[in-house]
Amino acid sequence: MPTVSLPDGSRRHFDAPVSVLDVARDIGPGLAKAALAGKIDDRLVDVRHEITDDVTLAIVTERDPEGVEVIRHSAAHLLAQAVKELFPEAQVTIGPVIANGFYYDFALEKPFTPEDLENIERRMKQLAKADLPVQREVMARNAAVEYFRGLGEAYKAEIIESIPEDQEISLYRQGEFVDLCRGPHIPSTGRIKAFKLTKVAGAYWRGDSNNEMLQRIYGTAWPNKEQLQAHLEQIREAERRDHRRIGTELDLFSIQDEAGGGLVFWHPKGARIRRVIENFWFELHERAGYDFVVTPHIANLELWKTSGHADFYSESMYEPMEDDHQAFQLKPMNCPFHVLVYKDRLHSYRDLPLRWGEMGTVYRREMSGALHGLMRVRGFTQDDAHIFCREDQIESEIVGVLDLTLELLTAFGFEDFDIYLSTKPEGAVGSDAIWDHATAALRAAIESKGLPYTLDDGGGAFYGPKIDVKIRDAIGRQWQCSTVQLDFNLPERFDMEYVSESNERKRPIMIHRALFGSLERFFGVLIEHYAGLFPLWLAPVQVTVLTITERQDDYARQVYADLRKLGLRVDLDLRNEKIGFKIREHTLKRVPYLLVLGDREQEMGTLAVRTRSGEDLGTMGLEALWNRLQAEIASRGH
Ligand SMILES: [Zn+2]
Ligand SMILES: [Zn+2]
Repeated sequence: MPTVSLPDGSRRHFDAPVSVLDVARDIGPGLAKAALAGKIDDRLVDVRHEITDDVTLAIVTERDPEGVEVIRHSAAHLLAQAVKELFPEAQVTIGPVIANGFYYDFALEKPFTPEDLENIERRMKQLAKADLPVQREVMARNAAVEYFRGLGEAYKAEIIESIPEDQEISLYRQGEFVDLCRGPHIPSTGRIKAFKLTKVAGAYWRGDSNNEMLQRIYGTAWPNKEQLQAHLEQIREAERRDHRRIGTELDLFSIQDEAGGGLVFWHPKGARIRRVIENFWFELHERAGYDFVVTPHIANLELWKTSGHADFYSESMYEPMEDDHQAFQLKPMNCPFHVLVYKDRLHSYRDLPLRWGEMGTVYRREMSGALHGLMRVRGFTQDDAHIFCREDQIESEIVGVLDLTLELLTAFGFEDFDIYLSTKPEGAVGSDAIWDHATAALRAAIESKGLPYTLDDGGGAFYGPKIDVKIRDAIGRQWQCSTVQLDFNLPERFDMEYVSESNERKRPIMIHRALFGSLERFFGVLIEHYAGLFPLWLAPVQVTVLTITERQDDYARQVYADLRKLGLRVDLDLRNEKIGFKIREHTLKRVPYLLVLGDREQEMGTLAVRTRSGEDLGTMGLEALWNRLQAEIASRGH
């Protein structure tokens, strides 16, 4: 008779087989009411699952991430049930859980309209309120194929046909609706309390563009209404900050159909910001003891065979091009080029570490469906650098990279960092000794900074352990940014060497690191983080000079020229428009400072200064303004 071990270490003995729900009831009525599923060892099961043997069991509630997933997955079934009731001719396919929600793909000729979504959502609420029990049934595989064929569900039948014949299939029934599913599910539909359908999009059957197009309905589901509201509010806020919209409004960048997807055009105002970012990056790196290299965009395919990319990275690489009876490869990475620079001469242990940076533009294949503004592109510039060092220098080099990372990201207004350390996976190259040493060095470097981190055991690349730094933006979203990756593989493949103190040939350690990751993506994150309200040091236009009438034109031109001479990014607006209209327009362009010039200012040689937040700073002379702006630029908005 089963003994059930619970997460707190206690055990409960039962005289007969019990369900997960029975165990929850035995612990307390509150827990029985809250139970959504059970977790036996590492397997999720329904609350009605019968326990016959000794097991370790955790009761899963909405407080557990798994519990929220069960709610979301059950909401997908509820969606399918509502669609089948309202559109009996629709065929169901798959309905998985995704971040914050779920989707379900339907085959239906007529496109779903926004009114359809409202009706479906209303029906879902009724079905949830009816609190229908969700019951698991088991069927033989062939019987299940026949069953779904009989229902006219060709897609479901096709999915089941791909399951081995000898397997039993589990089905979940709620009311009239039955779906193929591994489970687990909530005990009854009433447990889905807070959800919303968000949009419809096209999706190919089995993700293959040769197949027919299905309609995918997306939804979000949460344990309670408060969490749902908070999430919807965050979506609205994210839409308000969408870098694609702000990028167009502020004329920062574009992606042109004529040129192709995933290729970014930086417009003059965007390029101004990029230049500020790059200049700052070079300055910081120079101070941190880096040198810089510049390398080509293509290279003989043989190089990529030596590096191994032609083999293990080929899916992300464009097809090589032929010239002069040789094949040339557009670069997906900069690393082999820096290796070639290293190998061009013999290095001594005294030369190390060598730190070489490059704003290296690379091209990678991405499915067109995966492209997204600046966040997911085909051509981008990495703020790349490689450090070649001795084994005894790993820790100090990693400390240096972490210092630089934090200094760089903090300057852009990011303060919350999540750090991940990934260690040796299965099938790794390099000896245990070198992995142990390198991993310990990474760990010591993180700990010496007093930074908390998460261990991703076995999550490293096959060629070395790594540190990832993710940033949180102004609305709490997490973005992968910096990576510091040790590499025991490329130095081996390229037979890299240095001459040691005892005059032996030794292999250097290679560290790959990119702090922004991709300049394009970082720019996208930055636009959304600031919602386009760039601090003064980054603003593409820092000051706009506005005239009230054309009598001030000459004075305005003089002020404009003076400010430009001081190195400020200035615009001049002499248009014959009402001053209120001009102010509003430049405020919408998020220009930090507006200088309004009328007769009085011209007579006194002063400036009336306004900020984009609408604050009136009164009149001041050019020097007073310059002092203020200089201090603000130097503070980088902090
Ligand atoms: Zn399911
Ligand atoms: Zn690299």
